[in-house]
Amino acid sequence: MKYITKYKSPNYNLRNNSKIQLIIIHYTALKNTLDAISYLCNREKKVSSHYLISQNGTIYNLVKDKFRAWHAGQSFWHEIIDINSVSIGIELDYNPRGKNNKYSLKMIYSLKKLILKLQKNYKINKNNVLAHSDIAPFRKKDPGKYFPWQSLSSSKLILNHRKLKKREIKIMENWFHSHNLKSKKQKAILALSLIGYDTREVYKNDKLYNKLISAYRNRYLNSNDINNNKSIYNTLIKHLFNFLLTKN
Ligand SMILES: [Zn+2]
Repeated sequence: MKYITKYKSPNYNLRNNSKIQLIIIHYTALKNTLDAISYLCNREKKVSSHYLISQNGTIYNLVKDKFRAWHAGQSFWHEIIDINSVSIGIELDYNPRGKNNKYSLKMIYSLKKLILKLQKNYKINKNNVLAHSDIAPFRKKDPGKYFPWQSLSSSKLILNHRKLKKREIKIMENWFHSHNLKSKKQKAILALSLIGYDTREVYKNDKLYNKLISAYRNRYLNSNDINNNKSIYNTLIKHLFNFLLTKN
């Protein structure tokens, strides 16, 4: 695995908060690694990421971890809106409409090594390895529905949500009941909000609600149950329960 530091992006500033808490995964949607390097290092583009990983698994460090790279844009996670200040951004040389439209094994191998290193260095919680679409579900789709989250959870870099026992489902339902939440939509929004998603506008805006559900579905559901509302709801309840147990 090659690690290259010779390309540097000028697009960064000081973090407003020195504690690194999140890892954000992106795809570049560009033609290849060279294009991505010149884009992310171009002062006029005003974007950057700490890392870029090529299809052959080479890791490029474009901005030092201690600086605030500009990759998240307008985003939200657990009430945090300046995501760039508390995160590390990783871009993957992948374009859903390009020749680089596969997540190669070498790329994912390097990504996993990098995530492990970052988690150790900064004590990043396993709940905090996120998609750009998690923190900006109304405008971003990356890293998309073909990103192999399963491989990250098999390597224990992110949580593997275990199935709930009947008793545990009952606890969750009673808890919703005690908060006077009756419809599945109300419960789903509360679950999404506690997990960290931006639900500020979705109560009154169906279009935004659907976008949020679709971002969630692309990450957490497999293609068999992708259009099934019941399985989205069950996945969310399972997720929330697992999240509450492992919050810290
Ligand atoms: Zn992105």
